[in-house]
Amino acid sequence: MLSRSGYTNRIRFRSTFYINSMPISFDSSRILEWRGPRKPVDPNLPPAFVTELEPDENGVLKEASTVFLVGKECPFRCLMCDLWQYTTETSTRPGSLVKQLTQILPNIQHRQIIKLYNASNFFDLQAVPKEDLMGLAALVQDFETVVVENHPRLLSSRIPDFAGRLHGQLQVAMGLETADENILNSLNKQMTLADYENACAFLLEHKLSIRTFLLLPPPGVSANDTLKHTIASVQHAIRCGSDVTSMIPLRPGNGIMDWMSSNGLVHLPDLELAMQTFAAALQLPRGRRQRVFLDLWNLEALANNRTDLPSAIQELQRWNREQGPTSSFYYK
Ligand code: SF4
Repeated sequence: MLSRSGYTNRIRFRSTFYINSMPISFDSSRILEWRGPRKPVDPNLPPAFVTELEPDENGVLKEASTVFLVGKECPFRCLMCDLWQYTTETSTRPGSLVKQLTQILPNIQHRQIIKLYNASNFFDLQAVPKEDLMGLAALVQDFETVVVENHPRLLSSRIPDFAGRLHGQLQVAMGLETADENILNSLNKQMTLADYENACAFLLEHKLSIRTFLLLPPPGVSANDTLKHTIASVQHAIRCGSDVTSMIPLRPGNGIMDWMSSNGLVHLPDLELAMQTFAAALQLPRGRRQRVFLDLWNLEALANNRTDLPSAIQELQRWNREQGPTSSFYYK
């Protein structure tokens, strides 16, 4: 594994929060202690998938299918992560992911956007065995865009090699989560802003596309600060060349987040705040190809039983597709 970030273990990551001015820290072992059971997953069954409409870099709506591949969990232990629930504890068996994808591909109608999400890092050989990379590339080579997730510190020549096997564009999705260095440090994500920036530079150098995930808001950011904080993070991702920046509403459910939420250490957004933040983000100056999305997968959790949730979801889908609370794009 190559690392352009120059990261060394000299940097110490630890999540520190305060209850009544008393510091409380969460490291990987403490985060693990709070975990509940995993969900039952079976790498031998066809994986789940969802299809949505998403505007491409020209603003044309495309069918975007997300395939949830089942393999080994991510080696990082981010404070807010709940993806480990859908993974296996042992290394992914060679051939398993190719078999999973082969089973599900006939259900995907158009060869437009495919997201191969494995709840881990696509270029971690424990999660995606080396011998499977070319087989997976062959299966998705005809898609216009192939999206995979990867931690900014896991850079390697396998990324451009994989991209070179595709006829379409490879887009690498990375969790930046926040552009505030101190808060990023508190997430136990084992990365710095420089790691993200270096990863962006690496991907752009290889003419690859970047998708960035941001938390709305990260743990430790108050409701009052959420809009300002998130907008600063979106701006940073846009400046670093992110083609797609997606805000993910913070959610409980991984154990530690539930405990923190009940102790007032995290502030889950409500629907109104999410909409206000999204509307502001959509009005930021950005390049013609750069899109900003609000992730709508878990929106019910923000709604507090609001009866207008279905119409709010419809409205937000429109914002995602048209890239604005008005129907026009904002160009630089
Ligand atoms: S890097 Fe991503 S998959 Fe890994 S623990 Fe963090 S949020 Fe979860």
